[in-house]
Amino acid sequence: MTASNNNLLMEKLVSLCKRRGFIFPGSEIYGGLGSSWDYGPLGTELKRNVKNSWWQNVVHQRDDTVGLDSAIIMNPEIWNTSGHAAGFTDPLVECKECHERYRADQLESGTEACLKCNGPLTPPRNFNLMFKTFVGPVEDSAAQAWLRPETAQGIFVNFANTLVSTRRKPPFGIAQIGKAFRNEITPGNFTYRTREFEQMELEFFVPPEDDVAWHEYWVQERINWYLNLGITADSLRIRDHASDELAHYAKATKDIEFLFPWGWGELEGIANRTDFDLKAHSDATGQSLDYFDEVKKERIIPYVIEPSGGVDRATLAFLIDAYTEEKQENTERTVLKLDNKLAPVKVAILPLSRNEKLTPTARNIYETVRNLGIWKVEYDDSQSIGRRYRRQDEIGTPLCVTIDFDTVELDQSVTIRERDTMKQTRVSISDLVPTLQTMLA
Ligand code: ATP
Repeated sequence: MTASNNNLLMEKLVSLCKRRGFIFPGSEIYGGLGSSWDYGPLGTELKRNVKNSWWQNVVHQRDDTVGLDSAIIMNPEIWNTSGHAAGFTDPLVECKECHERYRADQLESGTEACLKCNGPLTPPRNFNLMFKTFVGPVEDSAAQAWLRPETAQGIFVNFANTLVSTRRKPPFGIAQIGKAFRNEITPGNFTYRTREFEQMELEFFVPPEDDVAWHEYWVQERINWYLNLGITADSLRIRDHASDELAHYAKATKDIEFLFPWGWGELEGIANRTDFDLKAHSDATGQSLDYFDEVKKERIIPYVIEPSGGVDRATLAFLIDAYTEEKQENTERTVLKLDNKLAPVKVAILPLSRNEKLTPTARNIYETVRNLGIWKVEYDDSQSIGRRYRRQDEIGTPLCVTIDFDTVELDQSVTIRERDTMKQTRVSISDLVPTLQTMLA
């Protein structure tokens, strides 16, 4: 695809997201707030499905992980110990004339002039990405705290509590999904880089000598998660961090990257954080953050393998990957070919028309399916059936159930239409729920 086609694809996707209620510009009626986005009704369902699929895969389907939900504002000392207060910075350069700002590490090497106005640039200065806030009514330095820039530290400071309360021993992991905040210098590309976002992080504690094997294991596990949810294999790649790129805590990091319309970009980083964090917190607090190794008969601080993904970036990648335009005989249709597990609405119940013959039966079917409580189900009896199919295609609904006059007058059966193939199958109302269950499995 050419650059202009890629821009067009993003324009179409951003417009679909707004029109259909996936993602709205944040604070829009007040003129917006740079790179802030709100998830609408369908986006909320989609993002929730992404998080649930991750949680299912990383926590529920394993017996060596547990979950956590820690606070966003923590004791500020934690960020001194973790190295973030001093070192969580990006190099900022600014144009002396138009004041456009850039991250020096994202400019091509040797760039000396502003890309917008050709004005001279300032030398780089380190800019801390953490958001400051104050706890309590007095805004002095003693009350100053930070909004967390990663959820991981909440896991490290709860390591001992979790170990004791769950009677675990490495190898085992603690998973968390939650908001993180970074005062990014150059947010942009829709929801790819924002200042407020959600992370899905797993801190997997392992015996130090097993770190390399577990690192490889988690890279493969995480790639498989994206593939199993339908991301095209050619749009994914693994990139090793060069040694000068590694975070201050990491021995090795592999990024899972996705081919976004503007180029390859990180979806998730899988880092070997060694014992850096637990050791630092242990030294700072005097608490032992270790475990007893039965074989070696000694106390050991485990190493940490950390798969850390962005909920918003994953959601965006799933949307981009699913977006499809198809030529029909004399029209075109737009389809979001989302995996069934991710689709915001699983089933749409569509009576052929709104009238006293069809409506009671259609409402009955809708309520039966909705009350199962396992799927988001929509009922729609406005406009022509063709337009309603198009709308459901555009929001990625895998199955539509149509109730027509034969349903009530002839055969007590309905038509199930599949999103991707548009294949239609007639099933009796009594078989509808098990059929939907099979088709959505
Ligand atoms: P980048 O290099 O793109 O700034 P990073 O390497 O700093 O990302 P990590 O610290 O590894 O990111 O964070 C883990 C994950 O959190 C990322 O892979 C990404 O999915 C997500 N993430 C990080 N920063 C942002 C952001 N500003 N907006 C949205 N998601 C983000």
